[in-house]
Amino acid sequence: MRREAKGKPSRDLPASPLTPHASLAGLSKSTLDKLAKLNIASKFDLVLHLPLRYDDETHLYPIRDAPAARDVLIEATVVECDIKYRPRRQLVCHLEDGSGVVTLRFFSFYGSQVKHFAPGTRVRAFGEIRQGFFGAEMVHPRYRIVQPGLPVAEALTPVYPTTAGMGQDTLRKLIERALASEKLEDTLPDALIQQHRFPKFRDAVFFLHNPSPEVPQEDLQSRTHPAWRRMKFDELLAQQLSMRVHQQRRRGVGAPALRPRGTLVSRLLKALPFKLTGAQQRAVAQIRDDLSKPHPMQRLLQGDVGSGKTVVAAIAALQCVENNFQVALMAPTEILAEQHFRKFSGWLAPLGIEVAWLSGSTKKTIKKQLLRKISAGETPVIVGTHALFEDDVVFHNLGLAIIDEQHRFGVRQRLALRLKGTQTSVDKPSAGAQPHQLMMSATPIPRTLAMSYYADLDVSVIDELPPGRTPVTTKLVSDARRDEVIARVRDACTAGSQAYWVCPLVEEIESEDVPDGKKPKSARKPGRAGMEALQLKAALETHEKLSAAFPELKIGLAHGRLKSDEKSAVMSAFQRGDVQLLVATTVIEVGVDVPNASLMVIENAERMGLSQLHQLRGRVGRGAAQSACILLYHTPLSPMARERLKIIFENTDGFEVARHDLRMRGPGELLGARQSGVPLLRFADLSADVDLLDAARDAAARLLTENPQAARAHLHRWLGGRGEFLKV
Ligand code: ADP
Ligand code: MG
Repeated sequence: MRREAKGKPSRDLPASPLTPHASLAGLSKSTLDKLAKLNIASKFDLVLHLPLRYDDETHLYPIRDAPAARDVLIEATVVECDIKYRPRRQLVCHLEDGSGVVTLRFFSFYGSQVKHFAPGTRVRAFGEIRQGFFGAEMVHPRYRIVQPGLPVAEALTPVYPTTAGMGQDTLRKLIERALASEKLEDTLPDALIQQHRFPKFRDAVFFLHNPSPEVPQEDLQSRTHPAWRRMKFDELLAQQLSMRVHQQRRRGVGAPALRPRGTLVSRLLKALPFKLTGAQQRAVAQIRDDLSKPHPMQRLLQGDVGSGKTVVAAIAALQCVENNFQVALMAPTEILAEQHFRKFSGWLAPLGIEVAWLSGSTKKTIKKQLLRKISAGETPVIVGTHALFEDDVVFHNLGLAIIDEQHRFGVRQRLALRLKGTQTSVDKPSAGAQPHQLMMSATPIPRTLAMSYYADLDVSVIDELPPGRTPVTTKLVSDARRDEVIARVRDACTAGSQAYWVCPLVEEIESEDVPDGKKPKSARKPGRAGMEALQLKAALETHEKLSAAFPELKIGLAHGRLKSDEKSAVMSAFQRGDVQLLVATTVIEVGVDVPNASLMVIENAERMGLSQLHQLRGRVGRGAAQSACILLYHTPLSPMARERLKIIFENTDGFEVARHDLRMRGPGELLGARQSGVPLLRFADLSADVDLLDAARDAAARLLTENPQAARAHLHRWLGGRGEFLKV
C-alpha cells in the first residue's frame, strides 16, 4: 500500500478567532480586476496599500515665493488660454496671482480643456515651477478649478502605487472607505507596544495614509517614522510567528532517526583525495545532528559555486545508508544529475554501495526493472532528475531526499518528494513518517533573507572555497575585439587546457531598463521558444566558425535540443579531455565540474543576469591553473547593463554578487519566489531593518507561549487568506 501522495498533509493553521477579511463586494468587475493587479483582494488589503510618497498640498504659495525643485501648490486666475502649435501641439495657459505670473503647459489634453480655462477662472495647480525661456512655467501640473476661499488640505496627499486605468482619486476613495469600515483593533498586547514605543496599529495606518504636514518628509520617505516601523514590525512578526508555528508542526511529524554509525562515512572520508574544509565540516556536523533526530530535517545547504556541496551531500547520503534507509538525489537538469551520478558512483561504489540512475530518458524496460528494485529496497541510492517525483516511483523506505539547485524546483515538486514518505507498507513500524530533506543552492542568499523567506528551512552555509583555487580573472571585452578572444581561446587549448564558449539563452532582463507599458512594440523580445531558437542558431554558427578556424582542435557542441545520450556523450568527452573547446548554450549553466577548463567566454554578457553570470564563471577556476572569464558585450550598453558588468567585474565573491543582485532586482527574482509562490515582505527591508527583525523574532517566541490568542489574531490579520503557503 502506498501512502496517499495527492492529499495535503494534515497540518492546519491555528483556528482563527476572527472572521475572514471582508471582501470587496459591490465593486465592478473591472475595478476588482485592476485591484487584483495591485494584489488587493480585500478591504484589509486596501488598508495595507500604503502610499509610495506624499504631495504637500497643505500650503498655498504665492507664485513669486514658490520654492524651486519641488512640487508646490499655487492658486491663480486665468489670464489667457490657447492651443499653440509650435513646436508641437500644446495647451498653453497664462495665470497670475498678484505676486507673479506662471504658464501652465500641457502636451496631452482634450480640446474641451480650453473651456475649463476661461479667463477669470480660479485654478489650483500642483507641480514644480521652473524658470523657462518665457518665464516661470509648470508642465503638466495636476489642477482643479476652485472657488476662491476653498480651504487647503490638512494632511499630506498620499500618492499610491497604481496600475493602468486606476486613478489616484479612485484609489484614495476606496482606501478611505476601507479605513472607515474596517475594525483596526490592535493585535499586539499593550506591553509590547509600549516596550517599542510603537503607535497603535490603527493610528499608524491612519497616519501613513494621511500624515500631518509637520512630519519631516524624510522620515516618511526613508520609512523610519514610528508609524512605518510599526507596520514593518507587524509584518515581520507575522512572518516570524508563521515560521515558529511551522517549526512546531514539523516537530510533530516523524522521520527515521538516522544516527551516525561510523561505518561508511568514515571510510569515505579516508578515501577522499582531499580534506574537508572547515566550512564543509561545520555543515556536515549540522546535517549529522539533524539526521539523528526523529523529525524531518529541512535544511538548505548554501555555498558558492565550487565550494564543495556535493561531497557534503554524499556524506549525508551515507549516514542514511548506514541506517538501511534509501536516499534520492535529484538535480534539475540531466547533465547535472548525471554528473552527480558519476561522482556518487565514484565515491560509493568502492564502499560496495550501488548507485542507481533514473531520468526521463531512461528506457522503458530498464526503468521498469529499476522501479521494481527501488520499491523492493534493493537500491540504496538513486540519482536522477524530475523523474524521481513521478507517481510510478515508489520507494521502499526513503530516508533522505537531496535536492540540488533547489530554487529551480517549485514548492510543489519538493512537496511531492516529501510526500513519498519513508514508510510505504503496514508491516513497517513508523508509517506516515517523512524523509529528511537536504536542499542545495549555489545562489547565495544573504542569511537573514534566507532565514526569513524560507520560513521552514534551517540554513547551513559553506563560506570557504577548497584550498588551491586560483581566483578567476574577469575581463570585459567589446564584441569588436572578438578576433583577439578567438586567438586567446586557441592558445589556451593548444597549450593543453580546455575552454567553454557559451552562447547562453539570455534572460529577458533588459525589460527592467524600460518601465512597463512604455516599451515600444518593435523592441519586444521574441518569446522564450523564439529566443531559444535564436541562441541555438548562434551556438551552431559559432561552433561552425570556430571549427573552421581551428581544424587542429576538437570542438564540441552542447545545446538543449540534443538528445540526452548525445548531450552526455559531448559532456563526457569534454570531461575526459577529448574535446578541448565546448561551445554551449545554457546547458552548462549549473554545476558542471571540469577542473582542467580554465577559460570561459560568455557571449551577450550584457544581457545576462548577475547570478547567471556568476554561475557560469564558476565553471572555471576549479583547478590549479590561472583561469579567466571573458565577457563579450555589444555596445551601446544600457545603464543597467553597464552596472551589472561592473559588478561582476569587481566582485568574485558570490555573496557580494547576490547582494547586488538583490538590490537591483528585488528578492522575488533572486529567490525564484514568483514561481514558488512565497509571499514577499512588502514593508520591511531585511538589510535596513535587522533590529526590527530581531525584535520580531523575540516577540514571536514570547507571544506564542504567553499570549497565543494574540499570536493567532496577528497571524490571521497578516496572512489571512494567504496563509495557505504555510502548509507547503
Ligand atoms: P559545488 O558546491 O559547486 O556543487 P562541487 O561539489 O562540484 O561544488 O565541488 C567542486 C570541486 O571541488 C569538485 O571537484 C570537488 O571534488 C572538489 N572539492 C570539494 N571539496 C573539496 C575540498 N575540501 N578540497 C579540495 N577539493 C574539494
Ligand atoms: Mg553542485
